[in-house]
Amino acid sequence: MTPDLRNLYQEVIVEHGQRPRNFADLPNADHRAEGFNPLCGDRISLQLRISDGVIEDVRFTGAGCAISTASASLMSEALKGRTAAEAEQLFAGFHALLAGVPAADDAALGKLTVFAGVREFPGRIKCAMLPWHTLAAALHGEVQPVSTE
Ligand code: ZN
Repeated sequence: MTPDLRNLYQEVIVEHGQRPRNFADLPNADHRAEGFNPLCGDRISLQLRISDGVIEDVRFTGAGCAISTASASLMSEALKGRTAAEAEQLFAGFHALLAGVPAADDAALGKLTVFAGVREFPGRIKCAMLPWHTLAAALHGEVQPVSTE
């Protein structure tokens, strides 16, 4: 493995890729969306339960590479207890992180900053963004499956 790849597959990403959190169907989900990244073949089915504007629970199923799985896992952890508006801010912050745009508040991203290394690998950025695009679709009530293409 090259030093760059070691850098990419950081410990946290590998661990979440192998043992994703919240990987299950969510009973009583009231928001859901499907996402697909044809470039890599990643598929995600995201389910949320939102009560009084607060994301109470997030779960996902699907099959994808380590990056997309770890991204969905870490996203699911980051979203619980957040409002939909805070989730949109996280989306913007995460997108800025992967685009290499200096964010006003990187600290808000917490653990999600482990994905900063992915921006060195443009082909994998869509893998990391897929769960977030799927989240946006779920929050906006879009019925069509999301594709990163
Ligand atoms: Zn992928």
